[in-house]
Amino acid sequence: MPSKSVQQQRLTEVRAHALYLMKHLGQQVVGRPLQALGWTFGFDRAKRRLGGCRYQPGHPPKKRITLSGHYVRLNGLAHRNNAGLQVIDDVIRHEIAHAIDYEQRGRSDHSAPWQAICQQIGADPSRLYEGNDLERVPGTYVVECPQCGQTDDFYKRPKNVRYCKPCSQKVGRRFDPSCRMVLRERATGKDVMYGDERKTRRLAPNASGATPAEQGYKYTATCPSCGRQTGFKRKVTRTYVCTPCCEAHANGQADRRFALKITQHY
Ligand SMILES: [Zn+2]
Ligand SMILES: [Zn+2]
Ligand SMILES: [Zn+2]
Repeated sequence: MPSKSVQQQRLTEVRAHALYLMKHLGQQVVGRPLQALGWTFGFDRAKRRLGGCRYQPGHPPKKRITLSGHYVRLNGLAHRNNAGLQVIDDVIRHEIAHAIDYEQRGRSDHSAPWQAICQQIGADPSRLYEGNDLERVPGTYVVECPQCGQTDDFYKRPKNVRYCKPCSQKVGRRFDPSCRMVLRERATGKDVMYGDERKTRRLAPNASGATPAEQGYKYTATCPSCGRQTGFKRKVTRTYVCTPCCEAHANGQADRRFALKITQHY
């Protein structure tokens, strides 16, 4: 993630650029700056599309062009795709073409009239930024299958452990450990734990010296590093980590190296 000041600078720059284009392209095509026709510009919180253009008839009509603030903070105007096109500049022109289309026809879509405006104002009509799965903002988290390499993006840390579907089907078992997808933080590239895995359980040394089994627990959890044990009455469905070891060796972060091994007593 870029620093706060870099992010702020990108937002300021992109806003200025958008207002400039709204003024000049409006002047060029409809004879007036879009602002003079009531159009405003702002950032929104969208993560699944890069831009938006809203036109709601009324008194006065609502006319607004928005860009994903999230995407702009991550990329700024300097972000270029493989074709060397400035993505954000193109998104702005794309949305301006919709605004002009609304002014001329009272509606807008991605059909021929809109495409003609795109040609006129230098937007690439073959690129779409508003639909699902189009030009998505990259997720904060990525899961990857160790078998086939398939990845999936997440904006929030997934709670449950993910398993690769196609690979599980090949193995014939839904939650086979070999199909367990690795969760990674995109910014750091580090492997991290799923939400439910971060539960920690404090393992207190037992004063009496009795094992959990001797104390009547059905399940024993053992730390693979320090050997401390604790008992569970019910089936353990989450991954727990050894709190003392995480505090001593991992800055108190839940660390998979200290995941407790569960054994069952009959
Ligand atoms: Zn569009
Ligand atoms: Zn797979
Ligand atoms: Zn331990």
